[in-house]
Amino acid sequence: MKNLVWFRNDLRVHDNPALSSACSADNEVVAVYIVSEPQWKEHNDSVNKISFWFRCLSELEKELNKINIPLIILKSDFYKDHAKKLIEFSSTYDLENIFFNIEYPVDERDRDEDVRKVFESSKKGVFSFHDQVIHKPGTLKTKAGGDFSVYSPFKRCWFAELDYSMLEEIPIPSPVLPSSITHKNEFDIHSYDKSRINQDLWPVGESNVKTMISNFLEKKGSLYKTDRNFPSMKATSMASPYLNTGVVSSKWCLNQSRNNNYDALDEGDKGIVHWVSEILWREFYRHIIFNNPRVSKGKPFQMRYENIPWENNPDFINAWKEGRTGIPIVDAGIRQMIETGWMHNRLRMIVAMFLSKNLLVDWRIGEAFFMKHLIDGDIASNNGGWQWSASTGTDAAPYFRIMNPETQSLRFDEQGKYIKKYLKELETCPVNEVHMPNNPKEFGYVDPIVDLKISRQKAIDVFGSIKKDN
Ligand SMILES: Cc1cc2nc3c(=O)[nH]c(=O)nc-3n(C[C@H](O)[C@H](O)[C@H](O)COP(=O)(O)OP(=O)(O)OC[C@H]3O[C@@H](n4cnc5c(N)ncnc54)[C@H](O)[C@@H]3O)c2cc1C
Repeated sequence: MKNLVWFRNDLRVHDNPALSSACSADNEVVAVYIVSEPQWKEHNDSVNKISFWFRCLSELEKELNKINIPLIILKSDFYKDHAKKLIEFSSTYDLENIFFNIEYPVDERDRDEDVRKVFESSKKGVFSFHDQVIHKPGTLKTKAGGDFSVYSPFKRCWFAELDYSMLEEIPIPSPVLPSSITHKNEFDIHSYDKSRINQDLWPVGESNVKTMISNFLEKKGSLYKTDRNFPSMKATSMASPYLNTGVVSSKWCLNQSRNNNYDALDEGDKGIVHWVSEILWREFYRHIIFNNPRVSKGKPFQMRYENIPWENNPDFINAWKEGRTGIPIVDAGIRQMIETGWMHNRLRMIVAMFLSKNLLVDWRIGEAFFMKHLIDGDIASNNGGWQWSASTGTDAAPYFRIMNPETQSLRFDEQGKYIKKYLKELETCPVNEVHMPNNPKEFGYVDPIVDLKISRQKAIDVFGSIKKDN
């Protein structure tokens, strides 16, 4: 049998259900990846992330070659053309079946549905798998039979319905028959050089990444709960780009947690248990995006917030995007993202809340800007995080509970180490002033663009005026 495996956000050979199902000793298997730059641009996928994908792909290619599977890079600009591209490829090489792992955002689902129809009508087999979550979206239900919209009961149900056999990892397939297919790559992933960050910050390769994450759990896992909120400490795993590209599976991450916690996930070491709960937040937002396709189309989860009278002041938007709002912790967060492609979670919340509340700027503007820079940009988690911060989402922060950036700064960056790392202007600023300099110009820094107290009250008034039953 000749099978096609279509790789997308699952760039690994271990614990990959689509790959494993396509492989058996008497099968010939070919892998493809489709480069779709214009489509990715429409989705605001960052050049930092695309560059990272390509680096992960070239590592994947080496791993696939060890089991006799060639990786062919195809090019097709938009998702709407993928079905045609894949069926032509399959017909040319007499491939009988296609295998892929499921993606949940709406455009990806529509694309995959097209592929399914075209292949089935050509009498070819289509096999798809859930590899990003442990419980398939749609299978966890509230007592009333609905979908969860709040994280804590979701998590309780996740554990109640967990059978540890669901966490069994799928081994790397044994070598398949050598491939007869020699299709010229349609895009050179090795010469892509648009990234704006130092990619060396993000090593690639399945085994390197696994070592990195297991070292984190072993050495820092127990301290995670206490240290995770302090951005100047390297106290989080930085696993997000790898999880989102599928270099490691969340199942593997959960099993690593068990290995460091006497086989338990929900009790025992408080740090590890907390880390597990973050992996489940990721799964929660995948269920949300699957059950509520409107959130990947720019709609709020809570529809009553559809018509917030955003001010969208262009000067404020530009200042926020350039990291020159005059609020040091906010500017440091934005500059960290621009410089490294990643931002600490505490900062993501602070800058998102500042934009959507103090500046009364539509959260969708911030969501898109994050996607354009993040190496771990992920529609489900990014949308979930933005809607949480803007109080429009599931579990959202109540609109009147607005984080005060200065207080956050004093609490989580007491010595101003993080601020000084990313705001070079404030390097010589005394610690007692670094959170809100008295005379910013003295350091070549800018005055705050808004008064924190007044802008906070304004946001409360605007959000408070939205009727509950809208
Ligand atoms: C406004 C906003 C935007 C965000 N955008 C993204 C995004 O585009 N991509 C992304 O992966 N995460 C996003 N997050 C969630 C979170 O900030 C990152 O996952 C986390 O900072 C990644 O760092 P880490 O790998 O060191 O996480 P750790 O603290 O080590 O956590 C382990 C893993 O759990 C998952 N996780 C942790 N926190 C969350 C969370 N709040 N929601 C969902 N999953 C979580 C991630 O996969 C992470 O790698 C966003 C959060 C906010 C508030």
